[in-house]
Amino acid sequence: MTMVITSITEWQRIRATMFSMNKSLGLFMTMGNLHAGHIHLLQRSLADNDTTVMSLFVNPTQFNDKNDFKNYPCTLDNDIKLCEEIGVDYILYLEYEDYYPDDYQYQIQETQISKLFEGEIRLGHFVGAMTIIMKVILLTKAHRCYFSEKDYQQLLLVQGLVKAFFLDIDVVACPIIRDAYGVPHSSRNNLLSESAYALAKQFINIFHTYKDNKVIQDKLGKIKIKVEYVADFKGRKIIAVQIGKIRLIDNIEIDKIAANENR
Ligand code: AMP
Repeated sequence: MTMVITSITEWQRIRATMFSMNKSLGLFMTMGNLHAGHIHLLQRSLADNDTTVMSLFVNPTQFNDKNDFKNYPCTLDNDIKLCEEIGVDYILYLEYEDYYPDDYQYQIQETQISKLFEGEIRLGHFVGAMTIIMKVILLTKAHRCYFSEKDYQQLLLVQGLVKAFFLDIDVVACPIIRDAYGVPHSSRNNLLSESAYALAKQFINIFHTYKDNKVIQDKLGKIKIKVEYVADFKGRKIIAVQIGKIRLIDNIEIDKIAANENR
């Protein structure tokens, strides 16, 4: 049975009991609307730890676009049901006031990776994301936290955060989970119309086939997909596009593309 925790003191009481019983704790942080990618991370945590907590919070400070925040899909009942099905122990479901007693007066600012790509386009995004990640890590006192290569910049930043502030937690990096057509699962995919999803499949096919960023840009442009950035970064090719009003991001190891290009 999954327990939904809605107060910090309640969580602290439960956490103290776990300490006394010497139980290991895995943490998965999400904004909800759970899909197969999230479930994969949760299952890793369930396999590695005695107890798993999922923090569920649509964090307003990491949205640069108010409409994106407003329209972020919320499927709480279904998320709880999925957690129960796979045996997640706790859902930490707190409010803005709980997480931000300072009303966001204190912030975590990384100065290099966070300025690139997603950080350049979504101003303030990584300050908000790193701040909430720091808060949830400190609040849960988990032993391991699970992040995915899907948000590759975020993963690098979390690894750096843990190192920079001597946080006592292991960051477990998990792969990108894709659907049958290679499209990465994303909470925003639900917002894609049938025709937009058809374009998303073409986008992934092109992105996973060509090594040259100019070729990718041109081919996507021809099918009216707007490329926000495409670049090679730390051994990976990373990209953000817009299909209609929906933003999609993806990345792939550059070595893997060579194999696809020669098909
Ligand atoms: P979200 O709630 O979607 O912002 O993301 C919560 C976590 O799930 C982050 O670590 C994401 O990188 C990860 N995640 C999102 N989509 C996928 C996916 N398709 N495969 C694996 N992990 C994912």
